[in-house]
Amino acid sequence: MTERAPTFYFPAPRTQKFCSQCGSPLTRMVPPDDNRQRDVCEHCGAIHYQNPRNVVGVLPVWEDKILLCRRAIEPRYNTWTLPAGFMELGETTAHGAVRETDEEAGVQIELGPLYTVIDVPHAEQVHFFYLAKVLDPGLNPGPETLEAGYFAAHEIPWEELSFRTVITTLEHYLHDKKNGVFPIHHYSVPHPLPKG
Ligand SMILES: [Zn+2]
Repeated sequence: MTERAPTFYFPAPRTQKFCSQCGSPLTRMVPPDDNRQRDVCEHCGAIHYQNPRNVVGVLPVWEDKILLCRRAIEPRYNTWTLPAGFMELGETTAHGAVRETDEEAGVQIELGPLYTVIDVPHAEQVHFFYLAKVLDPGLNPGPETLEAGYFAAHEIPWEELSFRTVITTLEHYLHDKKNGVFPIHHYSVPHPLPKG
């Protein structure tokens, strides 16, 4: 236990320093019968595997307008995003997407089909966005959102969007909307959005 509480809290980096089982310092090494480097405890033998994380989100539509949220958290504070966040243990991608929409926008939706599946290897993530219909346009944003609002296609703040996966999901949607057909799109985003 630390003697006093920290003044702020943050997500721990994915590289681990100490074994969660016995507290010993970890060694970066290839374990027996493996083929890549892991954080290994040479004291108790625990191997601390790391795997990509899932980000689940929604593209919510109300009468031809798209719901966007302005982020109140890092990274990309103050930029606009689709409601999305890390999938929690024990939930499905669909449940996570609905939960994130409720937490960030406080809006009731009817979840539609899975729409984009995006590999983001540099961020060690996979992003899943569902289409959704907003049932009642009333908004009640939570603490992770500065404000939320509805945007027609020509009102989308392209220069102030949060992540490549949000931008490309919106681009696909606006393109598909012209045809009225919304097939699933699976692709990868190899590079992060430039800072600025
Ligand atoms: Zn250990």
